[in-house]
Amino acid sequence: MAALNRLLRAKRELSFSSSYSWMTTDNLWRSLSSSTFSEAAQLRRAPSSPPPTSIKAFSVPRDPKERNVQWVFLGCPGVGKGTYASRLSKLLGVPHIATGDLVREELSSSGPLFKQLAEIVNQGKLVSDEIIFNLLSQRLEAGEAKGESGFILDGFPRTIRQAEILEDVTDIDLVINLKLQENVLLEKCLGRRICSQCGGNFNIANIDIKGENGRPGIYMAPLLPPPHCASKLITRSDDTEEVVKARLRVYNEMSQPLEEFYRSREKLLEFDLPGGIPETWPKLLQALNLDDHDGKQSAAA
Ligand code: ADP
Repeated sequence: MAALNRLLRAKRELSFSSSYSWMTTDNLWRSLSSSTFSEAAQLRRAPSSPPPTSIKAFSVPRDPKERNVQWVFLGCPGVGKGTYASRLSKLLGVPHIATGDLVREELSSSGPLFKQLAEIVNQGKLVSDEIIFNLLSQRLEAGEAKGESGFILDGFPRTIRQAEILEDVTDIDLVINLKLQENVLLEKCLGRRICSQCGGNFNIANIDIKGENGRPGIYMAPLLPPPHCASKLITRSDDTEEVVKARLRVYNEMSQPLEEFYRSREKLLEFDLPGGIPETWPKLLQALNLDDHDGKQSAAA
């Protein structure tokens, strides 16, 4: 985490404080940060790294001396990246870092980036790499100060350029690509609700699609809020039909090369969601060779 953070900071400082082009900045940054590369290289050799040729043989490090997991979640808007990344982060004791949340925090603080960000996000477009690296770097600095290590990234990287930069600064163990049929994604985004008080995530969509033409059916029960949250529900400003469709278009354009990037490095775990949380959580744990022994997070919650 420290290596990742220092390098992100170095990159941010170079890219924001100078008028160099990205190419020049990259070259400069590479030579300037060579000392921290050795740290990334050591991580690469860490015994906890999963065997590169087999995702199936992946196992989570149990020895406390080994470093914590460094995972990435990919997947379309509405697929449930946040839900499963957050559950896994609690199970594994690593921070769940969602760049979408960082963008929304910045928006709610009405800081200097507000106008620029609101316009981009509400059109379903991607925020510039500079802004994303800035927000991510601040988040990593705050985490480092609290002694965090390892991470589950959600919503980052979203472009090949972001993936390349991430690859330069640290070693990613595993990339989990969550997949769900497209017609469900829109309904799930439109059904999403957030409690304005506790921040809890809920979904009022009741998805019950019959299988046809060889395609399996899918059932996802609504995830309703408890009574004390019910009157405080809000929706994300970018969860309107028009914006969700734009986000899905942008995601689909970007996702193929990104998936290929990680597939070619044998880090991509494809995971088709079989249904809602009760069906998906145990299967996801199984795919990751994990146990939720304490049963802290019931599959239905
Ligand atoms: P989604 O539900 O579409 O996956 P997120 O919550 O991850 O949405 O992100 C919300 C918005 O924040 C995105 O539509 C985009 O404008 C911006 N954003 C989040 N992460 C990134 C990123 N890595 N690069 C560029 N923009 C991002």
